[in-house]
Parts: sequence; structure tokens; C-alpha cells
Amino acid sequence: MKLSKERYPVSVLKEVQDSIDVRPEYQRPLVWTLKQKRLLIDSILRGYDVPKMYWHRQPDEEQFEFHVVDGQQRLTTIWEFCNDGFALPKDSDPVDGISTAKLKYSGFNTELKKRLHLYSFDVVIVEEAIQNDEEDEVREMFLRLQNGTTLKAQEKRNAMTGRMRAFVKEVAQHPFFESCKFSNTRFTYDHIAAQMTCLELAGEPVSLRDSDLNKMYAEQTDFDPKGNVAKKVRRTLDYLTQAFPEHTRELERYNAVTLYSLASSLIDNYVHQGTEKKLADWFIAFETERRADMEKDEDSRDVQLVEYQRLTSYSTDAAESLAKRLEHMQRRFFLAAPDIELVDPTRIFSEAQRLAIYRRDGARCQLRIKCDGSEKLKWNNWHADHKVPHSAGGKTTVENGQVACPDCNFAKGAVG
Ligand SMILES: [Zn+2]
Repeated sequence: MKLSKERYPVSVLKEVQDSIDVRPEYQRPLVWTLKQKRLLIDSILRGYDVPKMYWHRQPDEEQFEFHVVDGQQRLTTIWEFCNDGFALPKDSDPVDGISTAKLKYSGFNTELKKRLHLYSFDVVIVEEAIQNDEEDEVREMFLRLQNGTTLKAQEKRNAMTGRMRAFVKEVAQHPFFESCKFSNTRFTYDHIAAQMTCLELAGEPVSLRDSDLNKMYAEQTDFDPKGNVAKKVRRTLDYLTQAFPEHTRELERYNAVTLYSLASSLIDNYVHQGTEKKLADWFIAFETERRADMEKDEDSRDVQLVEYQRLTSYSTDAAESLAKRLEHMQRRFFLAAPDIELVDPTRIFSEAQRLAIYRRDGARCQLRIKCDGSEKLKWNNWHADHKVPHSAGGKTTVENGQVACPDCNFAKGAVG
């Protein structure tokens, strides 16, 4: 990777907005608060040091000369301010005796404009990426700049031994990932598959940082790929694939795990069969609304969406952040789909119900998938089966129960 350093005064930055892409694929949404934006302009006016930016040169692209690797908030803040997008606060301290309170760019006098325009940013230019793996290097650098984590962590986990590694590898091949917008650069799918598995093991939002995932790999070397957790991960991804059978631009790196949590809790607690399209329609509408909200003035934005976006940008792998994002999604989803029912919480037939079902069905298997139903089953060798599956809203009642031999019951489970 070849790097060069250049200095860009604000007066130049102001003019080159059209040739710089601040939102390449791996970037997160723009998220600075008004306070942070004002602080940047104030720092510039006082000549304080501002961290350098990283741009990636795009010699082959027609529209943009550069992609911003790091510095998107600083750039958009400068552009917004120079377009009178916001004013400095009413209680701001004077700069060298000149009051800046409540001033917008157009209200600046010559001295303030001079200070702003002549302020120079250090920009590190990442020169032309010749090969694909150099593009990876740029992403890697971006992640390191953003939050100190690197994609290398997943590479290291992939080198670990044990059944968890094998299981995560399997999950990363699930067709759901083909529907996502993001690519599998540096094992992104493995990383997200590991996070989904970690969530499913805990059964609730937990911290999903690299250290937590490493711990899971180390502790779960005997992980059962046929066990309930493994089944649930596959089932949730199957559900999501039915919801999103095609490539969906809204499925991004930063919302895939939250969406997974939402689907997982739907499967656990709600009558979810047949709700796939509802979930997909809602999700796309939600993302569309969120994106439109980002374009609005600070003052007219939806407070909850601003908070949601903040949560997708900082400490995203912390338990609290995930729990809040999930809560936000759930609240909106259930508002949009109020007819979704909780499943009957009693999944297990009582002893009395079992006896009634056993007598009524003459102790004979009613499913007849693997058997012909002629054999009288012993009391300790039959299953009470939900005719309408529990996951489809079937009640745990004698009416909805039937005798099933173990083979047929297993065969039905494997199909449904
Ligand atoms: Zn049977």
C-alpha cells in the first residue's frame, strides 16, 4: 500500500465536495451530533489540531476521485457549515475578541472567514489499489482507525481448532449471506456467523466483542452441531432467507446481527410461520425511513432514529448497545405488525392431557409417516404431537394433540 501526504485548506475542501465519496461501502452512517459539529468548527477557528484524514484515490472511477477511509464526519461538517446548515451556539466564547455566538457561515466577518478558509487538514492519501487484497488492506486500516478492532481477529479464530470453528464455517456458507449487501472480505461472514452463534448460546443480547468470540471458540470445542443451539441458528437463518430471498441492499454489516436477534426472538416467542414477508417489508420501510431522516436538518430529525444511529456507530458489539437496538427494532416492528401473536407458552402437554390423547387415539400413531399406525404404542414410547405446530400458533390442547410414534415424530420435525 503506497501512502502520500497532502495538506488541504478548508477553502479547497469546500470546493471539491462532488469528487469525494464520503460513504464507500464499508463506512457507517453519518452520525455526528450538532454539538460535535460545532466543536469542530470552533476548533478550526482557534487553530487547534484536528486529527488527519485518510482518503483512498480512485483512478478508475468516473464520479469520485477519492473514497474517504476516515474523516467523513469532519468533511460533511465543513460542507454543511459552509452551506449555512447550522449555527454556532449562543454561548460560544469569542475567538480573539470576535464574537461567534449564533453565527452561521454567511454571518462570518472577513477575519473569521480567513481563519476558516486558511485552516489546513493533513490528508493521508492511499494511492491506487492495484489488487483486490489492497482494497482489503484499506478496509482493515479503516476498521483499525474506527474502533481498534481488526478483521484479523476472525482470521485468527479460523485458525483455532474445535467444533465451534467448524460450525461457524458452516453457518457462514448459509444462503442468507448471499442476500446481504456486504461481501465476505476477510471473513466478514464468519465473524457475523460467530456473533449470531454467540447470541444464540446466551439466549439474550450479550457482548459480542472479539474477546467474547475468542472465549466462545475456546470453551465450545465440543459444540454439538446437531444440538438445539445449532438447530436454532440454522432455523433463524432459514427464516431470514425466506424473508429476503434476493440480494437486498438494506442488509448491511451494521444491522445484520440486530435483525438476526429480532428474527430469533420472533421464532422463540411468536407465531412466526408466514410472517417472513411482513418482516422484510417492514425492515425495508424502516431502513428507507432511517436514511431519509438522516438527510433532514438536525432539529427536525426523529429523536429515536438519531439514538438508534448513534448505537450503530459506537461500541456496536457491547451487550447494552445490542439490547437497545433490538428493543428499538422490536418496538417499531410490532407497531407495524400488530397482529403477530405470542405463541401459547405451554408447549408441553400435561400428564392429564397426554392420557386423554393416548386413550382417544387408541395408543396408535396418527402421523403414519414412517409407520402404518397399526402398532399399539407403549405408554413410555410415544410423543404427544401438536397437529398444528406450536410455531404456527397451534395450541397445547387435547384437541390439537395426537399420538405419534418416535420415528414419525422425528420425521415430521425434520420436515416442518
Ligand atoms: Zn408412526
